[in-house]
Amino acid sequence: MSLAKRGAAGIAAALLLALAPAPAIAQAVAFRSCVAELRSTAIGKGIAAATVDGAFAGVEPDEEVLRALEDQPEFRLSIWDYLAALVDEERVADGRERLAKWAPVLEEIERRYGVDRHVVVAFWGVETDYGRVMGRRSLVRSLLTLSCNPRRQGFFRGELMATLRILDGGDIPAEALVGSWAGAFGQTQFMPSTWQRLAVDFDGDGRRDIVGSVPDALASTAHYLQRAGWISGQPWGAEVRIPPGYSGPAGRSTRMPMAKWSALGVRMLDGTAPSGEASAALLLPAGPRGPAFLVLRNYSAIFAYNAAESYALSVAHLADRLRGAGPFSTPWPTDDPGLSRAERREVQERLVARGADIGAPDGIIGSRTRAAILEFQKANGLRADGRAGQALLKALRAQGPATDGGSPPEKNERAGGGGSR
Ligand code: CA
Repeated sequence: MSLAKRGAAGIAAALLLALAPAPAIAQAVAFRSCVAELRSTAIGKGIAAATVDGAFAGVEPDEEVLRALEDQPEFRLSIWDYLAALVDEERVADGRERLAKWAPVLEEIERRYGVDRHVVVAFWGVETDYGRVMGRRSLVRSLLTLSCNPRRQGFFRGELMATLRILDGGDIPAEALVGSWAGAFGQTQFMPSTWQRLAVDFDGDGRRDIVGSVPDALASTAHYLQRAGWISGQPWGAEVRIPPGYSGPAGRSTRMPMAKWSALGVRMLDGTAPSGEASAALLLPAGPRGPAFLVLRNYSAIFAYNAAESYALSVAHLADRLRGAGPFSTPWPTDDPGLSRAERREVQERLVARGADIGAPDGIIGSRTRAAILEFQKANGLRADGRAGQALLKALRAQGPATDGGSPPEKNERAGGGGSR
């Protein structure tokens, strides 16, 4: 490289240094001007200026929320890992306790909305572990950040306006309006626009408070399901058996009369042919070698709440378990099943005992736990995929000193949300 060129490079570097703060300043200016525009929009929609100004005062964009929006999870859970933690013995036991504690309220909810109490409580358990994990991010800050970012801006601006309406009406105190990065909040994680449409005041204090009032939250969830087409007295569906080598139709969108499924060889677990007037779809969430389900209209209502097959199946299955049913009859097609939260905590405790720096065991397998798992797997000739399954737990137990197992779960924010509700 010639001296002249090196000189030019040096000048360019000096210029870059001088200019470095400029993008940050430009961003801050753009954010303030976006906030001012949204302030006008809100006031134009009839929200009190004092409410808007109080909510927006001193709010800075939350970079973590933008990272969450862009994040493509590099590690996708298989459906058996997903269900193993969401429908485990702890959640079943906790749910039964809630069913007993809130029995009079749940009875009234069933009467008014026609939705099975076990399903309502299952949503509560899957969404926030019965109110333990509701998210900690300020809704205003998250939604203001997302409303001033191009991606899905219209959607998030609508949610921001709905949040301001909640504050304007005084239904929920500002400090309680916290939730997931995408704005889902409360005991059963409604989006603000869903709160606006469907939340109900069930305890009769004049406020629709799905954060502080369990009756309000559970009734609002039942109301959501009623409006999503819940058919009272009908199950969501049931596990079934399919003939070996089945290659017929499957998937939520292929609905057929029971007689057709029967003709294709689908049988109930007790061996009888599926019957009834309702049309059903056959779900094979892990392919024809795994558990099979015939699902009815109420499954679609569950699916509407959060459009993911593994999610809907978790709620449906937890509801059945709360009612007293056992695990699925057909095992998942894997030789390395998933872990309950208690087992995940044990994995973490054993990794910590081996010197891994993963923080307090909380049963949530995050990136640091996965890195420690990967290291252990590589060092021990296991399949190196960073996954916490039964094979890993067995290997850790075989090597490490015994732990007392089972410390209480830590509160931890779920990054989920962003569904349509
Ligand atoms: Ca209330």
